Amino acid sequence: MAVLDQLTSQQAIDLENKYGAHNYHPLPVVLAKGEGVYVWDVEGNRYYDFLSAYSAVNQGHCHPKIVGAMVNQAQTLTLTSRAFYNDVLGKYEKFACEFFGFDKLLPMNTGAEAVETALKLCRKWAYEVKGIEENEAEIIVCKNNFHGRTTTIISFSNDPVARKHFGPYTKGFIKIDYDNLEALETELKNNSNIAGFLVEPIQGEAGVFVPQEGYLTKARALCEKYNVLFIADEVQTGIARTGKILAVDHENVKPDILILGKALSGGAYPVSAVLANDNVMNVIQPGNHGSTFGGNPVAAAVAIAALEVVRDENLAENAETLGQLFRSELNKYIETTDLVHLVRGKGLLNAIVINDDEESETAWNICMALRDNGLLAKPTHGNIIRFAPPLVMNEEQLLDCVSIIVKTLKQFEK
Ligand SMILES: *Cc1c(COP(=O)(O)O)cnc(C)c1O
Repeated sequence: MAVLDQLTSQQAIDLENKYGAHNYHPLPVVLAKGEGVYVWDVEGNRYYDFLSAYSAVNQGHCHPKIVGAMVNQAQTLTLTSRAFYNDVLGKYEKFACEFFGFDKLLPMNTGAEAVETALKLCRKWAYEVKGIEENEAEIIVCKNNFHGRTTTIISFSNDPVARKHFGPYTKGFIKIDYDNLEALETELKNNSNIAGFLVEPIQGEAGVFVPQEGYLTKARALCEKYNVLFIADEVQTGIARTGKILAVDHENVKPDILILGKALSGGAYPVSAVLANDNVMNVIQPGNHGSTFGGNPVAAAVAIAALEVVRDENLAENAETLGQLFRSELNKYIETTDLVHLVRGKGLLNAIVINDDEESETAWNICMALRDNGLLAKPTHGNIIRFAPPLVMNEEQLLDCVSIIVKTLKQFEK
């Protein structure tokens, strides 16, 4: 077969299986096109996208404004490295700092890189500002976290699949229960070497765990009390997904370090960032950190456009309104069935929990049936399905999706 021949779905799957490393287990559907809330497979079947590339495509597939900015910049200047200045990066940094309310931004590419950046920044602050003794700094993280796939990050994961046989692990992390303020205060009180607390405002990969109201506010206050940096990983929850620009905005919490990725580019390009105020960010000096592609002109142009879309199309408000509707509609069905235990989430980051054990295949089988009914979603665990459509959805489309989901779930009732 010639490289440019149109493949069937099966041919595309076979190629990936034979020539690609098996580091994912995709749902068997081969996508060839996307627009707004829809994607199409190779055979031309249309689906609602209820994953949005793990919340990277909040602005909808191939948003014309974002694609336009990308094409325009790609035809002008793509990469200079940071050895020289470029005429887009500064504009983007100013725009994003004002958008999120921080003094400075450090540009990277992927979410995991931005998390690594935040950890380095936090440690350097701990030695140079807080005065912790060299190599003694520790960072508190939460159990069942997901912060990416690098060796340091998987060192403080407790997912055996992500960790096993990748040791030796990086030291300097303390794991506590999520949504547990006593556990946080106990660690902070008894250990003067704590530099930071890294937390997801909602645990996405773990199954969309929403902490009790007030958790973030109180955790932030504890960090302040013990002079520890509050680091919010908003790679998945940020950029309007949960019904506010940031998930911490629900509690009016301002992190010391903010980590963004995914929807920062609307899914067009890998763009991530760490934001902080000068008292923290100024510990970073030339040579301390960097990335060949981080802050390149295409990334900068794309990110400005992606944030403008979020603002101009009121995506946070839309996510809030449609999220309420989604949960209330699904709850009407859940009251009538034993199949689904509950729906939870904020804005358009939601999950349903199936009444079955974690090792079961029910959630996978439901996702296969959803696919056949024209909607794409993926289990986060054996019994949890995440629902995260693009935020450019309208009410009519959302209700159409609810009826697809309910119809599909009914196929699984005993
Ligand atoms: C996806 C994700 C990451 C990692 O982002 P990558 O771009 O895949 O490296 C980090 N933190 C959270 C909360 C995420 O959801």
